[in-house]
Amino acid sequence: MPVFCKNITKEERAAFERFESISGFEIMFQKEIDSGEKTPQEAFSENMDWFEGVYADVTNINFPERPECENDVNNPCCNNRDVKWVQRRNKEAEKLYMCAECRKDNIGTFKIIADES
Ligand SMILES: [Zn+2]
Repeated sequence: MPVFCKNITKEERAAFERFESISGFEIMFQKEIDSGEKTPQEAFSENMDWFEGVYADVTNINFPERPECENDVNNPCCNNRDVKWVQRRNKEAEKLYMCAECRKDNIGTFKIIADES
């Protein structure tokens, strides 16, 4: 992702390269800088606006929550990892989320219904 435009100062190039290095995105409007359609400052400002839009979009991603182990909060082995939806083989046939460590502690007392919710 080189900064290829020619119509910029050494300091402006350094700023564009820094933007690319931090954001991971190639500078837009480099052709417009060289053609005189945009000043380097305008191009930089529009790149920042675009990047702020990307940031806003990313912050709006609704990251899914994983279910938490419901087996026994007092179980010191409970690690809340690899949680699965299980059904106990008791009279009530209770359904709950259970983590990998709690499943080890309760082998034979339940069946896995689903890997997740
Ligand atoms: Zn657990």
